[in-house]
Amino acid sequence: MSSNSPDIKTNITDEDQYAESLYNGLIASCSKHVKVKDIKLIRKAFDLAKESHKGVKRKSGEPYILHPVEVAKIVTSEIGLGAVSIACALLHDVVEDTEYTLEDIKHLFGEKIASIIDGLTKISDVFDKHSSLQAENFRKMLLTLSDDVRVILIKLADRLHNMRTLESMPTNKQLKIAGETIYLYAPLAHRLGLYAIKTELEDLSLKYRHPHVFDEIAHKIADNEKKRQQEINRFSLPIIEKLEKNNIEFDINGRPKSIFSIWNKMQVKNIPFEEVYDLMAIRIVFKPLNPETEKSQCWQIYSLITDIYTPKPDRIRDWISSPKANGYEALHTTVMGPNGKWVEVQIRSQRMDEIAERGFAAHWKYKGEKTNESELDKWIKKIREMLENPNSDALEFLDEFKMNLFSAEIMVFTQKGDLKTLPKYSTALDFAYEIHSEIGNKAIGAKVNHKLVPLNYILRSGDQIEVITSNKQKIQKEWLGHVKTAKAKTSITDAIKAETKDRIKKGKTILETKLKELKVHPNGRVFKKILPEFEVVSKDELYSKIGSGIIRLDNLKKILKKNTKNKIIRYWGLQISKSTSSSKPKKTEITPTHKQKFNYKDPLIIRDTSEEDNFSIEFAKCCNPIPGDVVMGYKNPDVEVVMIHKSKCPNAIKLMSSEGNFIVPVKWTSQKYLSSLAKLSLNGIDRVGVAADITTAISNELSVNIRKIFIETHDGIFEGEIELYVHNVNDLNNLIMNISKIKGVDSVKRIEEISK
Ligand code: MN
Repeated sequence: MSSNSPDIKTNITDEDQYAESLYNGLIASCSKHVKVKDIKLIRKAFDLAKESHKGVKRKSGEPYILHPVEVAKIVTSEIGLGAVSIACALLHDVVEDTEYTLEDIKHLFGEKIASIIDGLTKISDVFDKHSSLQAENFRKMLLTLSDDVRVILIKLADRLHNMRTLESMPTNKQLKIAGETIYLYAPLAHRLGLYAIKTELEDLSLKYRHPHVFDEIAHKIADNEKKRQQEINRFSLPIIEKLEKNNIEFDINGRPKSIFSIWNKMQVKNIPFEEVYDLMAIRIVFKPLNPETEKSQCWQIYSLITDIYTPKPDRIRDWISSPKANGYEALHTTVMGPNGKWVEVQIRSQRMDEIAERGFAAHWKYKGEKTNESELDKWIKKIREMLENPNSDALEFLDEFKMNLFSAEIMVFTQKGDLKTLPKYSTALDFAYEIHSEIGNKAIGAKVNHKLVPLNYILRSGDQIEVITSNKQKIQKEWLGHVKTAKAKTSITDAIKAETKDRIKKGKTILETKLKELKVHPNGRVFKKILPEFEVVSKDELYSKIGSGIIRLDNLKKILKKNTKNKIIRYWGLQISKSTSSSKPKKTEITPTHKQKFNYKDPLIIRDTSEEDNFSIEFAKCCNPIPGDVVMGYKNPDVEVVMIHKSKCPNAIKLMSSEGNFIVPVKWTSQKYLSSLAKLSLNGIDRVGVAADITTAISNELSVNIRKIFIETHDGIFEGEIELYVHNVNDLNNLIMNISKIKGVDSVKRIEEISK
């Protein structure tokens, strides 16, 4: 770290002076939130940060220390956090980027600060090192939320400063960072109630993702500003007079709309700028006489305003009596303004306003005044519950979590009058699971406002719900479609899994007992016989159906005794010659039995009256051969199955070299009418209409049917997968050729493995 080169020494001295001025600026900005005795801690953290980043420059050319100091400033003056957080912000990149270790931090600053730095370093691992955002990593990041929320808050400040200085990054990085910001950080800021930061993140993200849109809206706002201010004044003047007459101390201003929110509204409602911009919103922030009168003063102001302007019926939003889940409190109303336009009026106390703008930290500051658990506490508790649940897979979790970030909420009541907050469109069943998973599992219906309703009844704010349960109730798979909350979904999935396990166990015991009675040993041959007879494809399915009583074993004896001279083998338009010798393959005829529907999924069954063997045919999962592929068969006498592989499949090659005696030559016979599943993966440059062109190409190919198509676009690229039913490999190759001719398509590939 030290060097004797005179050049560098001069630089370091310059850097020291520069750093010192930054430090003074920081101390000036945090004086409000920091006690004098804490300054020592901040100085210590600053000195270590300065020392460890010494000589390093940011992309923009300034010494690196600028970044941690700016992050610390945001942490204190924009989020309102205290000395420990300021110190952590100063140190946030030290472990990550310099030779100091977490142990050093622990030694110098103690356990608490070290654990926050650890959390911040882990998040950096998640986001800054990987090329794309991954669900599992996102989950890891949120895990830190349960350790200390300050980790997330400092990370948000870090992101905000990086967004403010994104200019100096290369374009591809700009897009990646801006994308992550709008996808994750802005919603997170919103959820933590950091309104100002959320808005700035959204605007900055838009600026880099759609620079033209951003500039255009910014210009239009500037052009209209004067006119808007006049309108605000005209509307506000009578209110100002009236409130002053009533000795209320207040501020009134027109709530400025952010560029992003204007753009978003234009998109969502499909309306021009002017129409969005025209909607005026006014905010009144008052100083209450004392904390107890805060709420009644909101209503007093409401009453004074509606003496002047007529309120729109049904447009009152009371977030004083029941605050939003992110802690937001205010009274909103919409009134008819002087020039015949609706104006939204927001009424807040200074405390409410601070919570609305600064969110979490401000909320904590006032926490002492309230004894009961706040909505934000409850939310964090809920997230914690979700995170601690090891069953939900990461991607699912991300979906649920994002849903929880965005969705509006409803407030409903238990029978006893306890308030529960649920996402919009939650059902009676969601409510049941919200109370307790056992209540959910046993729910058969509900009474909403004393009226009987089904479990999928969609609740509305203010509903009072009583869940009706029965011990006889059985969980049904369909329930998953009736619930909205992550909690309910996880509980249902878990319960179904547990129940299936139980049923399989029960069914297995029943069958084994029965077979014992009949003195039959349950070997492969027995199952080959009974599985098709009961129209099931696997042992588990058989057990499960026996366990649940769907399959009864009354005629098991008869089935086992059945004459097996007329052998049945499963067949998929495939002809097998039964020996490895060069004898001519036998001719077979395809006759669908009464049980077989002629559809894509079921293999056909042919009767082969002359053969003694009773082998069934299965298609290897490793290579998924379809009619037309060059194939071979591997005859496994133990399980009485001929496994069909593509001849070029590595497993087939291995089998051919090691178990040559069991290889049988096979070839496709009939290919008409039969379809097999094939999967393609494709990618290319995204352009308008490319998806439509692809689907057209597929539908032009008469012999091909789409089963599933999935196309995703990001950063100007699209990637997709198509699952198709095709008759043979020629049709498939034709299609691949036609798709690759489409403008923009870069590659089309067949994927051998198909998960079903
Ligand atoms: Mn950083």
